[in-house]
Amino acid sequence: MTNSPKALYIHIPFCEHICDYCDFTKLQYFTNYAKKYLVSLKEELDSYHINHELNTIYIGGGTPTSLSDDEFSELLSMLDKYTQGVEEYTVECNPESLSDRKLELMKEHGVNRLSIGVESTHDEILKAINRHHTFRDVKLAISRARKAGFNNINVDLIIGLPHVSKTLFIEDLEEIISLDVEHISCYSLTVHEHTVFGINHVLEPTEDFSRELYDITHERLEKAGFIHYEVSNWAKPNRMSKHNYTYWKDECYYGVGLGASGYIGKYRYTNTKSLVDYYNGKFVKEKEVVDYEDDKIYFLMLNLRTIEGLDLNKYQRMFDENFYKKHQKTLDKYIGESLLIFNKEENRIYASYAGMMVLDSIVVELLSE
Ligand code: SF4
Repeated sequence: MTNSPKALYIHIPFCEHICDYCDFTKLQYFTNYAKKYLVSLKEELDSYHINHELNTIYIGGGTPTSLSDDEFSELLSMLDKYTQGVEEYTVECNPESLSDRKLELMKEHGVNRLSIGVESTHDEILKAINRHHTFRDVKLAISRARKAGFNNINVDLIIGLPHVSKTLFIEDLEEIISLDVEHISCYSLTVHEHTVFGINHVLEPTEDFSRELYDITHERLEKAGFIHYEVSNWAKPNRMSKHNYTYWKDECYYGVGLGASGYIGKYRYTNTKSLVDYYNGKFVKEKEVVDYEDDKIYFLMLNLRTIEGLDLNKYQRMFDENFYKKHQKTLDKYIGESLLIFNKEENRIYASYAGMMVLDSIVVELLSE
């Protein structure tokens, strides 16, 4: 891939509190850390000399809204010169720090999509995982965001949190549906060693339970008018995340900030997670050349995650190889089991819902051929 990236990801690693399950690159917010961070962030951003129009900008974290109003304003102003022509500009927010002033600032600077961390709708569960908001805060935050003119909102929900029974989870879904948002992301809980969950040996949901909850989510959200367009993402028509599609279509993107990763030209890179190194301008920690074989692997793995699936004509153009012919036996087997679907007219292969749920093993089999 040699095209100039059309997507920009910015990472703000600060949070007001650290959640017990969190494995993202994040730090407790301190104003002097944040001020210094914004200086380094600008330095890194400038180093890319971006002088063409972008399609999407995504500010994630961490919690970007944990910055003070002045810091948040400085961040958005820093990005102003990249916003011309941008179709989708998202900021991740937490309900407790999404103040009216921050909503106003985002409107002024062209942000048009919010992604709000909800995770559970049960206050006792939120407290138990060290989230410092209630579900009432979520409802208020969304209603204030609507008043401020935001008409494209995502909320995140975790599948398989401890003490969340099937009944509680169904209540979560009903409450989330009642928020009437445009987009919902549901990720199954993964327990990482160095998190509070890991230290306390919290168990991940079993495969069967996780699948049962995904089945319920798939059914309920589709009934509520959402399209299950990616393994873990549901959207109202025309509200799929344009930015995340950059990743799933295996297209290039700039990643700026602590621990961010990017894909430019023939390189994939990951930034340092050390704040000291970041402050000292040592931004990139690892850089790898994506060769022909790696490129094929990424292209296959990522494209099959979405309902658009794998465009076989594009694959042929990119890799000079007939994908269907090469993998015909395996593909026919999965098509026969209705796990994969072949759209002959469009020359495209995509996973059914059942296929999405076992996508990893399908991809492993295809890659081993
Ligand atoms: S708010 Fe998000 S990034 Fe921060 S600790 Fe919680 S889950 Fe992690």
